[in-house]
Amino acid sequence: MSRLYPIEKYRNIGIIAHIDAGKTTTTERVLFYTGISHKIGEVHEGEATMDWMEQEKERGITITVAATTCFWSPGDYLKKDKANEHRINIIDTPGHIDFTAEVQRSLRVLDGAVVVFDGVAGVEAQSETVWRQADKYHVPRICFINKLDRLGASFEKSLDSVWRKLTKNAVALQIPVGEESNFNSIIDLIEMKLVDFEGELGKEVVKKDIPETLKAKAEEWRMKMIEKVAGEDEALTEKYLEGKEITIEELRAVLRKATIESRLVPVLCGSSLKNKGVQLMLDAVVYYLPSPVDVPPVVGTDPRDESIKIERKADDNEPFCSLAFKIATDPFVGTLTYVRAYSGQFKKGSYLLNTTSGERERIGRILRMHANEREEVEEIFAGDIVALVGLKKTSTGHTLCDEKAPIVLEKITFPEPVISIEVEPKAKSDQEKMAVALRKLQEEDPTFRMETNQETGETILSGMGELHLDIIVDRLRREFGVETNVGKPQVSYKETIENKAEAEGKYIKQSGGRGQYGHVKIKVEPKNRGEGFEFVNEIKGGVIPREYIPAVEKGVKEAMAKGVVAGYPLIDTKVILYDGSFHEVDSSEIAFKIAASMALQDVAKKAGAYLLEPIMKIEVVIPADFLGDVIGDLSARRGQIEETMDRVGMKVIEAKVPLSEMFGYATTLRSLTEGRGTFSMEFSHYERVPSNISQEIIEGKRK
Ligand code: GDP
Repeated sequence: MSRLYPIEKYRNIGIIAHIDAGKTTTTERVLFYTGISHKIGEVHEGEATMDWMEQEKERGITITVAATTCFWSPGDYLKKDKANEHRINIIDTPGHIDFTAEVQRSLRVLDGAVVVFDGVAGVEAQSETVWRQADKYHVPRICFINKLDRLGASFEKSLDSVWRKLTKNAVALQIPVGEESNFNSIIDLIEMKLVDFEGELGKEVVKKDIPETLKAKAEEWRMKMIEKVAGEDEALTEKYLEGKEITIEELRAVLRKATIESRLVPVLCGSSLKNKGVQLMLDAVVYYLPSPVDVPPVVGTDPRDESIKIERKADDNEPFCSLAFKIATDPFVGTLTYVRAYSGQFKKGSYLLNTTSGERERIGRILRMHANEREEVEEIFAGDIVALVGLKKTSTGHTLCDEKAPIVLEKITFPEPVISIEVEPKAKSDQEKMAVALRKLQEEDPTFRMETNQETGETILSGMGELHLDIIVDRLRREFGVETNVGKPQVSYKETIENKAEAEGKYIKQSGGRGQYGHVKIKVEPKNRGEGFEFVNEIKGGVIPREYIPAVEKGVKEAMAKGVVAGYPLIDTKVILYDGSFHEVDSSEIAFKIAASMALQDVAKKAGAYLLEPIMKIEVVIPADFLGDVIGDLSARRGQIEETMDRVGMKVIEAKVPLSEMFGYATTLRSLTEGRGTFSMEFSHYERVPSNISQEIIEGKRK
């Protein structure tokens, strides 16, 4: 079988947004207009087709990334032009701050994104975070300024906040006509038409001449747009300077190239709830966002030799390779492994090699997920996003590829959890059931960790925020029937070193018979935040035989996990094993492991080990009257105020505050603002704990 849609007609996109900006509503409209979903679910009732987990319904937030496929031919609103139909795969991304890791992993597998903004709030703190992540993964974007029907909405102000906070490259391709409740039409600055949305749920897109009264304004905006677009292309600049007519096709071609190369970001407007602008946004997805062949080939390494780089082009004739980006447990079919295929083709019924785990997996069923149905497919082609059924040994971030052409794609990196809680089952007999359930949840979500304290037997869960852990506990109850008692949340402190240092570790016991002999010399060097642990073996001439090196690394790692300051894991450190000695008879793996642990403890102290704490980025929205009190309280919490802004009659404070100072903040904010303040919070980075506080942590007076 060959593919139904040429790869050039694929768009793998994500819709990303700050919570409440309207991502779910927009996705719903997309599914409606593309003809998949025939009923529009109202979000507040929790019926949106994409939100399928129970908690998502209750909380009205989209947590899990699901992928769904739909079809669109731009400009063809009556759907007559099958030949120009494009397949749009939408990878749903969560909006809630606690789930930025989920956003990250979806960014990794998509080729382009639509960023939705609330036309009242403009760019909000979380949108900024996701925007920076999209920068990191070089994801081309278009912006959709939504909710322009709302009181206080302003396209110009929102656009201005995009310019100020996100990018100077944003260029408006449309302007709204009418403000707030009078917002009815959109002027398309490329076609120079006024566009209305008529009929049931605005499904008829009607393009009209721009009325005289609006012509001057439209011309002015078009001028600004053309100047920016022309600047991206010499031939176009010339035409523009000579005052020649620039065609729609020319504009679109230059815009497409510049958007794909992230040199321009088209900005559109609308109101998803009031059915305005969504079809034009879909047109823009096809016009300006890349197909899989427009982005650079995926890069990986040879599993047999990491130093060999391998590229795979988005081409059916290349060997098959894909990345697993999401594991979900489906009540009907069991485990679903969502994969993005980058190259080649693959028929069901045969095997794929998981180069990350080294295991083979038989692929019996392949599903293509639509919002409300699953379609069985026989074959996967380059660029596809599908779910594989029943895989046992594949986790998020693993590469699945052709057995004959092994490649390991770059792993998805996840932030370290910042908060932990202790859980125990209410019924002792549920202990085993809880452990099994937690293991399953951990497979689905790499930012969630579970550990059992060997000494006390306590189960500790750690994650990216209180809500993240709340949801895990909730899922334990609903999906697995395990009721739990939950302890107070604790901050996940870390340790790291300040300087370079050297030390030696000797574990030597000679007392008749066979003794113990392990001797190592190691150096440590601090690494940048987030770079993690690195072990370098510089042993020459076999002063420590090769078979003992893994034991040394293990000893180092075990000592690092325990830390040296206050029992928290030591991170971001390079450890170099450079010398040592051995004994023909007495040396053993265990002796080298112990020697290495001793050396590490010693060297870390010499290197000035200190404590790190998670710092959160918070955004507080309050009426102006309470500004002084709220800022005073944040300062008392060791907060650093970064910016205070006005937003439709409210004050917005952006600040960085240590997580340990934020427990119970919701209650304080409520009482400080007579219940009118709101805030959002997300992890920013780890920072050194001030020495007085560090002392309290060491002495166990503060958690
Ligand atoms: P998400 O959190 O980004 O997925 O946002 P939702 O789609 O769930 O929308 C949040 C709320 O805003 C819901 O109550 C929607 O009905 C509402 N909403 C979404 N789009 C619009 C819009 O264009 N105009 C107005 N007035 N409300 C909207």
